[in-house]
Amino acid sequence: MADRPESARAEAVVDLDAIRHNVRVLREGAPGAELMAVVKADGYGHGAVPVARAALAAGASWLGVCTLEEALDLRAAGITAPLLSWLHLPDEDFTEAVAADVDLSVSSRAHLAAVLAGARRAGRAVRLHLKVDTGLSRSGVQPADWADLLDDAAKAVAEGEAEVVAVWSHLACADTPDHPSLDRQAARLTAAWRAACERGLTPIRHLANAAATMTRPDLHFDLVRPGIAIYGLDPLDRPAAESPLRPAMTLRARVALVKRVPAGEGVSYGHEWTTLRETTLALVPLGYADGVPRRLNREGRMRVLLAGAVRPVVGRVCMDQVVVDCGNDPVREGDVAVLFGPGDHGEPTAQDWADELGTIHYEVVTGVHGNRVTRTTVGGGAR
Ligand SMILES: *Cc1c(COP(=O)(O)O)cnc(C)c1O
Repeated sequence: MADRPESARAEAVVDLDAIRHNVRVLREGAPGAELMAVVKADGYGHGAVPVARAALAAGASWLGVCTLEEALDLRAAGITAPLLSWLHLPDEDFTEAVAADVDLSVSSRAHLAAVLAGARRAGRAVRLHLKVDTGLSRSGVQPADWADLLDDAAKAVAEGEAEVVAVWSHLACADTPDHPSLDRQAARLTAAWRAACERGLTPIRHLANAAATMTRPDLHFDLVRPGIAIYGLDPLDRPAAESPLRPAMTLRARVALVKRVPAGEGVSYGHEWTTLRETTLALVPLGYADGVPRRLNREGRMRVLLAGAVRPVVGRVCMDQVVVDCGNDPVREGDVAVLFGPGDHGEPTAQDWADELGTIHYEVVTGVHGNRVTRTTVGGGAR
């Protein structure tokens, strides 16, 4: 990323061309299905609205979110594409969501009753996605209760209060494409879908997240729901060179202070690192309040790309800042330090962070907090 003086002190730069590229790759791999771009958790930390617009421009025809608030934020931004929201309490008020033409998932008869109450208040039919628990044991109706749910749903349809758009479910082990649970979950989904069809309903079926979209064409059904791959992070953890995807987020900050420090000085809280010789230290204003986990540098292995080289972060990650050892190199205040990015210039990747932290790249990017880190979009369609 170019060293631009106008860049913010700390920013997550989101490449919308990468988002579009990734959506196109996913579309090409699932030509028979529609594509729902999952933009929950503020677009996995990338910004739900710009990501949604870029994904729709590249051929996504649906959007998926977790909460009613996330759904209504997209509608408030003027986005009119079909939009599904899937995790609610049975005592939430669904009136506004129905009025805003948000499709709603239901996971129990109580949830269905609450959604129908919202539909009556909104004065229009609600578009339902009936979720069946096929083996993740999270949300969704247990197969044993499915017939009762269908009775209620069919009655609501007959009364003009609802439309059953889909029967759907979510996979437990999609990142292990040959795990036997995938076939079992698909068979249970199909059985639930058939039961709905036998009652005269005409729902579509959807099951696949990003990993299944990329590896299990037999599970695409009518619609695929990729999330992480839209953002360019490989759901199968393939190295960048082997992945068709392009990471969209670069986390970077401008150096706030540069100073020479003599040998033998402790650096950062607890003095876990001490200068071996006189050296130049650069202060980078990103810390654990911004999504740089404190444990990322517990082994002293955190690196940043700064002034043309990959350099070590020394001492503890603080709430607001880290210290980079630059030796005798000419680093200046205002220079841009890249914490992670696509890896094109040798900078660490979100996958590198995840490996170091013993977690998944999902957690790395969703941990970048929009209230502290400026989000900047670049690429076609940026606005
Ligand atoms: C988050 C989520 C997805 C997307 O999952 P990825 O692994 O990011 O592709 C799809 N469906 C549901 C129900 C989800 O919660």
